[in-house]
Amino acid sequence: MLDLHVHLLGHNDREANQETIRAFLDQASQRGLKEIGFADHDYYWDQMNFPLIREVAKDYPQLDVRIGLEAEYRPNDEGRIKHLLEQFSFDFVIGSVHEIQGWAFDVPEEEPKHWQKEADELYREYFEVVTRAASSGLFTTIGHFDLIKIFGIRPKTDILMLADEALSAVAEHGLVLEVNTNGRYKPVQEFYPEQRLREEIRRRGIDFTLGSDAHCAEVVGRDIDEAIQLLRQSGVHSIVGFANLDKVNYSLD
Ligand SMILES: [Zn+2]
Ligand SMILES: [Zn+2]
Repeated sequence: MLDLHVHLLGHNDREANQETIRAFLDQASQRGLKEIGFADHDYYWDQMNFPLIREVAKDYPQLDVRIGLEAEYRPNDEGRIKHLLEQFSFDFVIGSVHEIQGWAFDVPEEEPKHWQKEADELYREYFEVVTRAASSGLFTTIGHFDLIKIFGIRPKTDILMLADEALSAVAEHGLVLEVNTNGRYKPVQEFYPEQRLREEIRRRGIDFTLGSDAHCAEVVGRDIDEAIQLLRQSGVHSIVGFANLDKVNYSLD
């Protein structure tokens, strides 16, 4: 199947060379993936090497190797992302919100601040930024849609109400949401987005894609089969990959 969210550079842990690219593609092949998508964090732009990925990919004819980007979405910073997207013809672009008004909220040191805040307010502030990301016209995909739950804090208000506007923006702009399996390895210990959201996403006719958010080769494709099972159980019959910003359909039946 597919994994459209892997970080070749990790957190700037390694460089993009023949060997590191091969490690990712070998793992993708071993896991039986049909499509793999590199989506490094935009702040490592200068370390990326897209031509080399294309070159190495020629040795893996059974794999569709896609090149994307995980862009850090901040309101009033859209020009910067736009400029990056003009530099290369990407297959897909993930817009992710890891920051609320300059607060990088998803790192372990920030957990205490989550507990100090009022939970509903925390979720509202987060989904407001996600709504703007989805409306920006910059992305094909929104990354880890309910990342704000990372430390296991749940809102009092129904999540479907808190996420309503963001979901509407996603649907209106034809964006795709990923089942991101990496959430299982965070304090919340479950995939992004949670099951009720997955069901609502299906109900609204929004397309799903899949991502492990692997920051090293060993994790490529992790739990992707289980994510597919969960989607099937929620009544999802197909998911999408991307080529040159166009959706590619995969049947789950
Ligand atoms: Zn992310
Ligand atoms: Zn990521």
